[in-house]
Amino acid sequence: MGTENQGDFSPEERERYSRNALLAGVGWEGQARWRAARVLVVGAGGIGSAALLYLAAAGVGYLGLVDGDAVDLSNLQRQILHGTNDVGRRKAESAKESLAALNPHCRVETFDLRLEPDNVREVVQGFDLVLDSCDNFPTRFLVSEACWRERVPLVSAAATGWHGKLLAAIPGPENPCYRCLVPELPPAEASPSSTRIGILGAVAGTMGCLQAVEALKLLLGWESGLTRRLLAYDGREGRFQSVERVKRADCPLCGLGK
Ligand SMILES: [Zn+2]
Repeated sequence: MGTENQGDFSPEERERYSRNALLAGVGWEGQARWRAARVLVVGAGGIGSAALLYLAAAGVGYLGLVDGDAVDLSNLQRQILHGTNDVGRRKAESAKESLAALNPHCRVETFDLRLEPDNVREVVQGFDLVLDSCDNFPTRFLVSEACWRERVPLVSAAATGWHGKLLAAIPGPENPCYRCLVPELPPAEASPSSTRIGILGAVAGTMGCLQAVEALKLLLGWESGLTRRLLAYDGREGRFQSVERVKRADCPLCGLGK
């Protein structure tokens, strides 16, 4: 790797990111894109822990993280940003500390709040990309709508039990949004939660890792293969399935006349 392409990265950064720079299609130009990027992650839980750690490790320059909860002992089997000594602390604060310890070049802005209809657009604005790593449909609906209206690309991941799902919603006239897949809020009893059916930490982490991969590709200006597909992971069977997603003319968010 010639020194002429290393931009203004310090010797320490050049060593830290040397394996990124060797990657086909990345190089120091790609690393500079990651450094200049602003990514918001909604939820510093099981999925968000993995996604945030890998984005920080990769050298994304500015990370926003939204989480309005405190660390609970029952979180620790999957939420690897937090340790035993963090129980009772604010998740936003604990996560920020872990990310700073991993990569001090990464700036972290925390939003220690719950997203609501009256604050979500303000939080999302100004980010290049949003990762939805939350654990409930009302927040997913809020985030996906705000991203679509603000024209911010979204990578949405979900996990419960042994299963995970992943998709990308890239605002554009030809692309399906999240609501094309889930038009109406499912009733609470129809949506299994980790508090009811449990969740394997490694499955949540798998989805967070896959989400980080899609995010890092999008930040390079590449396509996500999940813009028109849904990736479903069955951890018990050890199987991935990818199914087509289509734009719905009658979608309540992006359909004709919206
Ligand atoms: Zn739609």
